[in-house]
Amino acid sequence: MMKIETKITEIYGILNNLTDGDITFLEAENSFQLLIGVILSAQTTDRQVNTILPHLFAEYPAPEDLGKADTADVAKIIRPVGFFNTKARSIISTASIIAQKHTGRVPETMEELLELPGVGRKSANVIRGACFGLPAIIVDTHFARTVSRLGLTEERNPDKIEYDLSKKVPQKLQYRLSMLLNKLGRDYCRAQKPQCPECPLKYLCSWEGKSF
Ligand code: SF4
Repeated sequence: MMKIETKITEIYGILNNLTDGDITFLEAENSFQLLIGVILSAQTTDRQVNTILPHLFAEYPAPEDLGKADTADVAKIIRPVGFFNTKARSIISTASIIAQKHTGRVPETMEELLELPGVGRKSANVIRGACFGLPAIIVDTHFARTVSRLGLTEERNPDKIEYDLSKKVPQKLQYRLSMLLNKLGRDYCRAQKPQCPECPLKYLCSWEGKSF
C-alpha cells in the first residue's frame, strides 16, 4: 500500500497541475473583507455571502466603520446569509476589536484570531494561509469529506483532522492543498452523487462507495 505522505504528494501534483492561479471562493478585496466574509459563510454558501458583501462594504468599508455600526442596520444587509442577528453582532464586535486593539489590521497569530467573535480554527486558518502565506490546514465540510474518502486520515473531528494532516502534509503545501481538495469536494467529490468517473483522483481513491 502507498505511504500516506507519498499519496499526498501525488494528489497535490495532479490537482496543482490542473489548477492555474489562486483558488478563492469569497469575493474579498483585502484581509478584513475576507475575514468578515468567512465569518458570514458559517452555515451558508459562499455564493450567498458574495451576494451581500459589496453592499456591506459599500456601507462600512473599514473596520472602524463596521465596528461602530448599528446591529439592526447590519442585520438588514446580511439577512440573506441566515443567523443574521448573531452574525451581525459577531462582525461588528470583530471589526471593533480589529480597529481598536490591532490598529485596523487583521492579526495573524492563531491566538489573536481565535479571540475574534465568530472566528474558529477553520476561519483562522483561511486568514493565515490566504493573507499571510502561513501553513494552514483548512477543515471545512468539503475538505473533511474529501480527505476521508481519499483515506488521508482516520479522524472525523475537524480539530483532529487538522492536527493529523498538519503532521502529514509538508508545511509549504498545506494551504494550497487545502484549497485544491476543497475545490475537488465542490466540483467532483460532492456529498451526494460524487462524480467519480470524471474525478482526476479516481485511480488514487479507494473509497468503498466510489462509483465507476
Ligand atoms: S473518486 Fe469519487 S470518492 Fe474518490 S475522491 Fe474522486 S469523487 Fe471523491
